[in-house]
Amino acid sequence: MIPIHPVSLDEYPDHSHNPIDSHENRSDKPEEACGVFGIYAPEQDVAKLTYFGLYALQHRGQESAGIATFEGEQVHQHKDMGLVSQVFNEAILEKLPGHIGVGHTRYSTTGSSRKVNAQPAVVDTRLGKLALAHNGNLVNTIQLREELLKSNFNLVTTTDSEMIAYAIAEEVNAGADWLEGSIRAFHRCQGAFSLVIGTANGVMGVRDPNGIRPLVIGTLGENPVRYVLASETCGLDIIGAEYLRDVEPGELVWITDAGLSSYRWNQQPQRKLCIFEMIYFARPDSIMHNETLYSYRMRLGRRIAQESPVDADIVFGVPDSGIPAAIGFSQVSGIAYGEGLIKNRYVGRTFIQPTQSMRESGLRMKLNPLKDVLAGKRVIIVDDSIVRGTTSRKLVKTLREAGAIEVHMRISSPPVTHPCFYGIDTDTQDQLIAATKSVEEISKQLEVDSLAYLSWEGMLEATREDTNSFCSACFTGDYPVAIPEQVKRSKLMLEKVVV
Ligand code: SF4
Repeated sequence: MIPIHPVSLDEYPDHSHNPIDSHENRSDKPEEACGVFGIYAPEQDVAKLTYFGLYALQHRGQESAGIATFEGEQVHQHKDMGLVSQVFNEAILEKLPGHIGVGHTRYSTTGSSRKVNAQPAVVDTRLGKLALAHNGNLVNTIQLREELLKSNFNLVTTTDSEMIAYAIAEEVNAGADWLEGSIRAFHRCQGAFSLVIGTANGVMGVRDPNGIRPLVIGTLGENPVRYVLASETCGLDIIGAEYLRDVEPGELVWITDAGLSSYRWNQQPQRKLCIFEMIYFARPDSIMHNETLYSYRMRLGRRIAQESPVDADIVFGVPDSGIPAAIGFSQVSGIAYGEGLIKNRYVGRTFIQPTQSMRESGLRMKLNPLKDVLAGKRVIIVDDSIVRGTTSRKLVKTLREAGAIEVHMRISSPPVTHPCFYGIDTDTQDQLIAATKSVEEISKQLEVDSLAYLSWEGMLEATREDTNSFCSACFTGDYPVAIPEQVKRSKLMLEKVVV
């Protein structure tokens, strides 16, 4: 029995106790959420297809990866810290036979980065095991945890995802079947959850009533048609699956040997897709609202060129995420698009601390300036967002040292003023540069000749969708699912609960 000790939120006000995860070493970008994948395909090597699905979703989380397969009633699983390509090899995949696969690639939002928190979460129930992969973050974790502890559940990890799995187990153990038990459990969850849940009978795909995190359905093969679930369409493309449609907010799809059936488990869904998925998180080749995100991001650049023009000799994007917007900016402004920075594409997340002198040069581990392109030029640099501003400041310094005579910065999203509680790590509010400083003050701090952000209206109108159908709370503080006051104080609300 693992001892469980109640923990005060105030004990763990942020994640900076983790040396690897200190502010200094973390990316100056909102950190991605998680990637989930599911497949029902008895004729196929589901472990291998899940592996490749996760491989395409790697950008959504680089801390751990896991796959669970169902072979009849039996569950096989492997999960570990690291990239998908580091966690799995042929020999490991061969030990994961079955007709159903559930996969997860993780960036920690609730619960710190360690192996026990890797997913899928596998839990025993009256009807057999379930394997759950979660993308998002619950906001009522504390309440749910208390309920589950009262039921004497032996919570192994510190993740809200495990609690969803146990809530389903509790309902199933009380007599419900898989669907009924899951739906009852989802009604106990508040916040963001896109889920893939494997059982011996079939795979479920679920989205919370706001559809904050994405989840898509694909088809594989004909006669019989098999179904695949993935966080983004790039997870379908890689295995040759065809995009069918999104799992809708408040929908549960149940995929079995008989095909796919759909259940509206929540009668009051409202679309609130995370706008940051479109601006930055999701891969540019993923499709949302019938177009690639590359196209949307180009429109963001066009819009900011209209809103905040400036004269210069060259415009370029911060690789890779700023590039489509920079191209859009160039198209409207007529200013030549070029490349001013080259990214080292083989830099993954490193857990080795750089030396002090490397730390000072910081940025060059990832980005190197093209000196002859920049020398004597007035440059416009386009980025998708600024979180803390530390990287942007280094970037501007690098460009000036490389010979740029003017540096104008354009950001293809509005100022990030509020933290996210729905599965994205946008840092604590006091660390967000735009939460405490005006655009003019930020401009001075970054030492740019001019700085402009895209307007909130511009960001939403560029979607060409109903502008009410997005969460944009990190730009406004208008959270679509209310955040309990105590939760606002902490990211690692459950840490140290478990030994
Ligand atoms: S708060 Fe921001 S990052 Fe979080 S879900 Fe909403 S738009 Fe996305």
